[in-house]
Amino acid sequence: MSVDKYEVIIGCEIHCQLLTKTKAFCSCENRYGGMPDTRVCPVCLGLPGAMPRISKGYVELGAVAGLALNCNIAEFTKFDRKHYFYPDLVKGYQITQYDVPLCTDGYVDLPQNGSYKRVRIERIHLEEDVGKSLHLEGAHSYIDYNRSGTPLIEIVTKPDMNAPEEAALFMQTVQEILRYVSVTEGNLEEGNMRCDANINLKIWENGKEFRTPISEIKNLNSFRSIRDACTYEVKRQLEEFDTDRQEFVLGFKRTMGWDEVKGETVIQRTKNSFVDYRFTTEPDIKPFTVSRELVEEARKKVGELPEAKRQRLKKEYGLSDFDVQTLTSSRNLVLWFEEAAKKSKDPKKAANWILAELLAVLNEKEQDITEIAIKPDHIADLVNIVCAGTITSKQAKDVFAEMIATAKMPSDIVKEKGLAATTNTDEIAAFVKEVIAENPKAIADYKSGKSNVVGWLMGQVMKKSKGKATPATATKLLNEELAKL
Ligand SMILES: [Zn+2]
Repeated sequence: MSVDKYEVIIGCEIHCQLLTKTKAFCSCENRYGGMPDTRVCPVCLGLPGAMPRISKGYVELGAVAGLALNCNIAEFTKFDRKHYFYPDLVKGYQITQYDVPLCTDGYVDLPQNGSYKRVRIERIHLEEDVGKSLHLEGAHSYIDYNRSGTPLIEIVTKPDMNAPEEAALFMQTVQEILRYVSVTEGNLEEGNMRCDANINLKIWENGKEFRTPISEIKNLNSFRSIRDACTYEVKRQLEEFDTDRQEFVLGFKRTMGWDEVKGETVIQRTKNSFVDYRFTTEPDIKPFTVSRELVEEARKKVGELPEAKRQRLKKEYGLSDFDVQTLTSSRNLVLWFEEAAKKSKDPKKAANWILAELLAVLNEKEQDITEIAIKPDHIADLVNIVCAGTITSKQAKDVFAEMIATAKMPSDIVKEKGLAATTNTDEIAAFVKEVIAENPKAIADYKSGKSNVVGWLMGQVMKKSKGKATPATATKLLNEELAKL
């Protein structure tokens, strides 16, 4: 390879299905899967005379996505028709937004080496999904129109990413944010989110600067395929530049697919002429104003985003990166934690109970935090009675288990079972004296300088008290007694 230096340039277009109850412009249920062609109607089948209507919540969810990705929301917008022929596009045109998208000028900050790299978002527009071609074995292809008319947003970035890993991280970050604000299920395997990556290279050679033609790799549906397809394209474009400069200079933008099995990009078509989609304003849907009330509602739904929350929780509660990452893995979980933390005398302990114990229980029961019977108050109560010395940490484990089993409040469990730890000095002092009297060998060892025997003696005191002695008091009294010997 003779090039002096090169730079990778990547921009992404992400299609993302929204969680509205119905499809974008009709009342068919918006759901993945099912028997082919069972969730269709004249509107989403594009039958003549059928009239589309914007579904409830569609524009608002689009605005939530836009605000979560730091965009401006248009005050006035409209839908357009994009005309082309493809078997899965039953109407012969797709309803989308052309020149007045709902959201513009946003950005996503990607964590990078303790700082952030900003990827600008040019626009987010609303559009409908098309049907799905099924190329089954044999000579036939089939089309399932259940997906036809599913509400999408398309997120278009500026070409701000400079490495395949960055493109994958961008997709991952967008997925996290949009799931967090409940805009999408974001399930890549089910095609809820798909990414097209536009990639080319800036190359410097003998003091001259070149640009390779852009490859648009379509329908990448996993973080790994984004990374691998872009990595492959970098290598391929470098080789192409090296072997065939003439064609390269004249090169046109290419549409590529990604063959996961072979690990190669495959040319689907070369765009050597301008494709005219004959965009026209959708005549059946009036242009409309986006009310500021709707935008304010959307803003409330966005709230504090995961990364900002992680930074704040780390600072406020002294939690580790790993802890805050786990807590913010779902919005329900982190809100639950925050409520427990607010009511706990020691919020870090509340985090520990949730992360170490409660998540294991949820995992085992295959439940979400919202599905279990115990509430944040339960954890706060548990933390508070341990902090107050009412029970020991060891007892707390048993109380936790009982709390999970019965959903009773920890302080009630303690009362019912008579578990309260004793800080009664006389009682504990009696245990200490008994232990000293009953273990002459250990005492002899202690006197001969084996100080590690103290830990064992302490264990005996705790055992005698059936775990009810507060360790701090017991240690103090044991040391006092030993000092007298
Ligand atoms: Zn329909």
